[in-house]
Amino acid sequence: IILRGLTEYQINNLLEKAWFEGKDFNDFDEISKVIGATKKQILKKSNLLEIIESTENLDSIGGLNNLKKWLKTKAKIMTNIETAKEFEVDLPKGILVVGMPGCGKSLTAKACASVFGLQLIRFDIGRLLGKYVGESENNMRKALALAEAISPCVLWIDEIEKGLSGSQSSGRTDGGTSARVFGTFLTWMQEKKEPVFVVATANDITKLPPELLRKGRFDEIFYVGLPNEKEREKIFHIHINKRRPQDLDKIRISDLVAKTKGFSGADIEGV
Ligand code: ATP
Repeated sequence: IILRGLTEYQINNLLEKAWFEGKDFNDFDEISKVIGATKKQILKKSNLLEIIESTENLDSIGGLNNLKKWLKTKAKIMTNIETAKEFEVDLPKGILVVGMPGCGKSLTAKACASVFGLQLIRFDIGRLLGKYVGESENNMRKALALAEAISPCVLWIDEIEKGLSGSQSSGRTDGGTSARVFGTFLTWMQEKKEPVFVVATANDITKLPPELLRKGRFDEIFYVGLPNEKEREKIFHIHINKRRPQDLDKIRISDLVAKTKGFSGADIEGV
């Protein structure tokens, strides 16, 4: 299973390398590390996908309770994919997280991978359109195929509006390239069978084409706004606890909460 997504040539190469380096083939952890490093390199070479290592989990997020509850429920499926398939339970497709900058969208993608126990892959959709004019659709297909090959995984598409928003007016501006790239993505979202859970994040939902928002693409769309009092308290608690747990009792969080109305999670972390 861990060799999934690699070609015969790549597998031969990595086994040879492991043998030369004197790795113990009976030590699963050691061999997993070698395979993980090879996959990382392949993704890096693709220039579109990147493996993100993160230690964030659901406890790192203050507030966003609906979202956390939803992820916890779906984790029951995503941590038992084979059993779910056996019982013909539909695998969740993904979520769209929209909202203010600094309110925890990226944090959610990272926590999602951790609660599902899967690898987090970041897809830079802006790079796909910017760099390879004319080859964009091909690159989109390549990136999605790569994600499927490496599945099960969480595919994090950051600022999806930057890559897809041109699709509405693209007939006039880029000969329809972004519209076709967008079409490729929509069809894939609708039809994908492999366990690739998409977490797309966007700052501005009005820039997204309506086809992306209809049911059948994402399972849910979550809005993340500025934290309320209770949420600010939680966020302060999380960040103080991360940095100076010994001072948690000495700091009057309620005073800070009162003074930070209108602050985002990132602003609170700054404070
Ligand atoms: P952008 O749209 O600018 O990328 P974002 O919504 O993705 O912003 P994040 O990168 O998730 O924002 O947040 C930045 C940092 O702020 C996080 O790494 C985290 O430390 C802190 N933060 C934001 N929201 C929360 C939250 N709800 N709970 C705890 N920390 C938070």
